[in-house]
Amino acid sequence: MTINRRTLLAGLSAAPAAALVSAPGVVLAGSAEERRPVLHQYSLGAAKVTVFLDGHLPLGTQLFAAYDEEAAQAALSKGLHRMTPEGLNIPVNGYLIEQAGQKILVDAGTSDLLGPNLGAMGDALLAAGTRPEEIDLVLLTHMHPDHSGGLSTADGEAVYPNAELAVSEVEWGFWHDDAIMASVPEGSQGFFLMARKTVAPYADRLRLFKGEVELGAGFTSLPLPGHTPGHTGFMLDSGGEQLLFWGDVIHSVALQFAYPDWTIAFDTDPAMTAETRRKMFDRAVADNLLLTGAHIDFPGLGRVLKQDGAYAYQAAPWQFGL
Ligand SMILES: [Zn+2]
Repeated sequence: MTINRRTLLAGLSAAPAAALVSAPGVVLAGSAEERRPVLHQYSLGAAKVTVFLDGHLPLGTQLFAAYDEEAAQAALSKGLHRMTPEGLNIPVNGYLIEQAGQKILVDAGTSDLLGPNLGAMGDALLAAGTRPEEIDLVLLTHMHPDHSGGLSTADGEAVYPNAELAVSEVEWGFWHDDAIMASVPEGSQGFFLMARKTVAPYADRLRLFKGEVELGAGFTSLPLPGHTPGHTGFMLDSGGEQLLFWGDVIHSVALQFAYPDWTIAFDTDPAMTAETRRKMFDRAVADNLLLTGAHIDFPGLGRVLKQDGAYAYQAAPWQFGL
């Protein structure tokens, strides 16, 4: 699959960096004092998975390219999601996986980049009994601030001083390409600067990968391009069981299983995003995959169903004990 530079840039221009923090549909209200560590642990084969709720983000309906009120209400009426005046609240999840003597993160939350409703993952990791120095490896699905923000402090220091950072070579190259940055509208350039700043402290312990490769400790990368050029899922194999961390294949459980073509303003290449989503849904159905995602309702573990031609999400039961 090749990335079409024209549609890619067109997509970017539809998603100015400021939109994430100041668009009418994205309201960042609340108080850090209300924040409590929220986490859930489960086992997968020999691996222990801890999922952290970094916080939540209201997605304004105007962010969806093909939003239709009647269609949205039809989807909402089948489930328990509620529309708020700010839009649909979605979670931001991050993960710790302990397997084969290693401690690995999948994504790192937002830190303080997106306001007081987010940035709880660091404290939640401590609450789970893991210090930042213990992290061996961070697998990054893509370089948006709700995934890479927690990698560095406001002063540009590495939050995980001993961790290697694994990220797709395509993803790294895209956000570090000065020509691409110069060609996008000024409002979008902040995304590039933010992405660069969050990963900069890891430049000397970087593992850039290409395509589908084994990354160690049971993980294999799975390219899922569209949302960003190098957007990547990670398949974890442990004790004969599999779990796919699919990053941002969906942002809204409420709407995008029903309407896979409803891309959002942050998708770099909307057409490719929708194509990747459909292919991923089909594979998930065919393989009965257990999967989790950064914006699937916490704790975000489940599978995709297809009934009468329509996709749906089925949450896994809460797992008690490890
Ligand atoms: Zn995201």
